[in-house]
Amino acid sequence: NRHFRRLYEQTPTSRSFHERARDVTPLGVESNVRSVRPYPFYLGEADGSYVYDVDGNEYLDFLMGLGPGILGHNYPDVVDRVESQIEACGSVTAIPQTIAIEVMEQIESMTPSVEKLRLANSGTEATMHAIRVARSYTGNSKIAKPEGGYAGAHDYALQSVSASEEALGPEDDPETVPYGTGIPDAVTDTVVAFPFNDEEATERILREHADDLACVILEPVMASCGVLPPDEGYHEFLRELTEELDIVLIWDEVMTGFRLGPGSAQGRFGVTPDMTTFAKVAGGGYQLAAFGGREDLMAEIEPPAENPKDKWKTSAFHGGTYNGHPVSCAAGLATLEVLEEEPVFETIEPLAERLFDGLQVAADEAGVEASVQYVGSMGTLFMLDEAPTTQRETWQADDDLFRDWWFEAAASGVLFGNDDQYERFFTSYTNTDEQIDFALEVAEDAFRRVR
Ligand code: PLP
Repeated sequence: NRHFRRLYEQTPTSRSFHERARDVTPLGVESNVRSVRPYPFYLGEADGSYVYDVDGNEYLDFLMGLGPGILGHNYPDVVDRVESQIEACGSVTAIPQTIAIEVMEQIESMTPSVEKLRLANSGTEATMHAIRVARSYTGNSKIAKPEGGYAGAHDYALQSVSASEEALGPEDDPETVPYGTGIPDAVTDTVVAFPFNDEEATERILREHADDLACVILEPVMASCGVLPPDEGYHEFLRELTEELDIVLIWDEVMTGFRLGPGSAQGRFGVTPDMTTFAKVAGGGYQLAAFGGREDLMAEIEPPAENPKDKWKTSAFHGGTYNGHPVSCAAGLATLEVLEEEPVFETIEPLAERLFDGLQVAADEAGVEASVQYVGSMGTLFMLDEAPTTQRETWQADDDLFRDWWFEAAASGVLFGNDDQYERFFTSYTNTDEQIDFALEVAEDAFRRVR
């Protein structure tokens, strides 16, 4: 493909690293999401708004680690805090550490719905544990999630994730389908899918399964099928319905948490879930995640005091060798403090508005059918003539055209997310107006090249 060629000509060292990587790991990458065909570029360094590959090419980075990098790479306050923590004690000790108390207090103080919380190491772990707590609390096994939503890489959540052309049942009564192979049918049978933003269908499906449901888990802004904002009133409706039906409402704020404001999406939209999961920005680029919520729900983790020896049998288990890792806690705490003390959102959101609105104008002027959709500092460029309002509408986007455009932009030094149509991209605190100008010039040129 001629659109890929420029980038490949610039990255011969990455090509040889890829050959080496393929010998040790499937696809030559550590996570399927990092796979680019025929090969990805490999990182040399990262600094502020930029990443550099092993051939020394510079890229203005709006991928930002798939979301965590709200302050850009290696933000000085974060690096300093991490370095001091490493000096004090950088390795895990399995002895409770005060830095973990500090970061939990910080998350709690920024998130009024979280009365108690626990730490974990990834969004996947956080959602898995939150679901277990909801199951323990309600005694029910089933969970409900929107079609197209991503809630991590464990079996319970890898259901009805994919943007796919396959027949998945009617849009207003979707079937649950496992994402990929290796997932037991028995697990798929515990998951009920519903269509995001469709109140009538959501209500019918949740009422039908209410007696068996432990929780509804969803992203407040759908982001893994491209950015799909909630329709006005949808979250209020879902809040009322789940309360009426006694179903635990879990907001998976792994992507939106501390990204859409200091109070996350729940602060932005003014809706209070029962439980919330965090990762990404909460750890400022390090492996920190959290799940928490109402005290009576989180009490499921606490065994009755008079019966400590039987604790495994009488409570919802949550443990992990690396939970509350001191270095991750230090990075998370430093990041969250910067979010509170500095005008981060006042900076990144106007920059995002310039970037995303500018991309729409550039596409229109180049005559490429595209529609940009964004909330705060995260957005998606859909290769679609009209902005999608439902998850199935996102399937109509032209993935090949997106990849061609992405490769052209990357070859000119800008990473608009990764080469997947359904990923999002983000502005960060180290971005400047000049960087946005440059990004828009590159984007416009790329639109003309692919037109
Ligand atoms: N939930 C949401 C909404 C996410 O976007 C992601 C990751 O992209 C996860 C969960 C899983 O998080 P992790 O990749 O840290 O396991």
